[in-house]
Amino acid sequence: MDYSNQKGYIFFDGALVKWSEAHLHVLSHGLHYGSSVFEGERAYNGKVFKEIEHTKRLIHSAETLDFKIPYSENEIINIRKKVLEANHIKDGYIRPVAWRGSEMMGISAQQNKIHFAVAAWQWPSYFSPEAKLKGIKLNISKWKRPSPETAPVSTKSAGLYMICTLSKHEAERKGYDDSLMLDYRNYIAEATGANIFFTKKDKLYTPIADCFLDGITRRTVISIAKQEGLSIHETRIKIEDLHNYDECFVTGTAAEVTPVNAIEDFKFKPGEICEFLMEKYANFILKE
Ligand code: PMP
Repeated sequence: MDYSNQKGYIFFDGALVKWSEAHLHVLSHGLHYGSSVFEGERAYNGKVFKEIEHTKRLIHSAETLDFKIPYSENEIINIRKKVLEANHIKDGYIRPVAWRGSEMMGISAQQNKIHFAVAAWQWPSYFSPEAKLKGIKLNISKWKRPSPETAPVSTKSAGLYMICTLSKHEAERKGYDDSLMLDYRNYIAEATGANIFFTKKDKLYTPIADCFLDGITRRTVISIAKQEGLSIHETRIKIEDLHNYDECFVTGTAAEVTPVNAIEDFKFKPGEICEFLMEKYANFILKE
């Protein structure tokens, strides 16, 4: 699959254009200086999951990077709808992205136009608990999530993914599925595109999201767990504590709820709680 050359339509700066014609210039500030923000969203059975939350986060990411997306929250929601309709997508992935253009080519980008595009592609949700319950393997990255004084950590912006790609490449070279990143204090933070949870008996534990993305799926799983009467603790977790936990799973728009069976030499047994939350999450996304 070449993402630059598919059939269908992409919303690009005000209109739906043919997929293969959604180009930008090589002297775009977003490309050179990482001034780009995006979202990763899913539609299930024709409905975008947590649409308002994703739209608000996109606007927040842009504002934090000191630019304004030239569409309102409602306009973005309508654009997304048009893109899904134009491409006949009911179950799919949606990628809105906003970036600075080429009017100035230097660090300062006061005059640069803000561009906005939304692409979407089919992505059926295959809910197969048996396959997922085998779990994935994580290594521990040498790259650390930066402190809130070092980077705009609450945003979903391109620059923050530089170390995620490096981490994931190293993990894949070593035969792992993904990489667990520690933060600048050496506490456990998150995987390269998903948040992480641990269980001990019937209690859930997850790192405090003070220097990484507080995922929309993370918050959804926390609220499902609370509704189901599981106690949930947002806390600081160190590598040496990992042997205390029974189960481990990651959460994200793409990952949904995915069990983890090992973090390097620490083994976890995807079990009752993983299975329970996977099913509850699968039911929740269809109800929402
Ligand atoms: N952390 C990172 C770095 C991510 O890219 C994602 C995916 N957006 C998440 C966490 C999970 O966020 P969400 O549940 O909002 O998809």
